[in-house]
Amino acid sequence: MAYNPIQLQQGISLPEFLQSFGTEAACCLLLAACCEAELRARWPEGFACPRCGGGAHCILFSLGRPLFQCHACRRQTSLTAGTLFGSTKLPLTTWFLAIYFISQAKTGLSALELKRHIGVSYPTAWLLHHKIMTAMAACEVQHRLSGAVQVDDAYLGGERAGGKPGRGTENKIPFVAAVSLNDAGNPRFAKLTPVVGFTREAIRTWARANLTPGASVLSDGLACFAAVTDAGCTHNFEVVGQRKPRELPQSL
Ligand SMILES: [Zn+2]
Repeated sequence: MAYNPIQLQQGISLPEFLQSFGTEAACCLLLAACCEAELRARWPEGFACPRCGGGAHCILFSLGRPLFQCHACRRQTSLTAGTLFGSTKLPLTTWFLAIYFISQAKTGLSALELKRHIGVSYPTAWLLHHKIMTAMAACEVQHRLSGAVQVDDAYLGGERAGGKPGRGTENKIPFVAAVSLNDAGNPRFAKLTPVVGFTREAIRTWARANLTPGASVLSDGLACFAAVTDAGCTHNFEVVGQRKPRELPQSL
């Protein structure tokens, strides 16, 4: 039977995950590596105490997590304060396992299912679920597609008898479906972004927020997608099926 090799791409299995992050020490090691990068981003000139501004400090560990203690005023600053793991009492292994289950679930994972998987109370599972999903959404919003990017117009909504089909539909939300590709032409990142409509202005705004200048955009020739050039990207189109650019609305 023919199969799609994209669907059989290498992932990380649960045994592999547990081997890498099944202990608190292993999770701490990863957190420490992330902390080092975060440290440079947060204090590029070196640590500065948020209370007195002093730079002299020592690093203590509480529950395996780093705390910066100012020599002058003894204020303790947690590097993870304000982050996903800030002031948590849960073991990092529980957090990591929750991140694994949520990020690997192709069709989404409910808080109730998460509770059963990781063995915590429902309120705890709900909170973990909410925090992790919020962090993923924040990361998603900031990510800009780069390199080779394919875009298309798409619509989301239920059926309604008697309405107009296609782009003229009254009860569907238009959104841009975009995916960036690696050198082998395989998909890397996908973004689905609601837009007010498929106008040049809307696509210009979308491109400036979601594409890295220099990206090479390929569309099906819908006129408004030419506006990606206003965001410093190149634009090419490939007509598929029976549709031709001259048949598409040119006034958009
Ligand atoms: Zn201080």
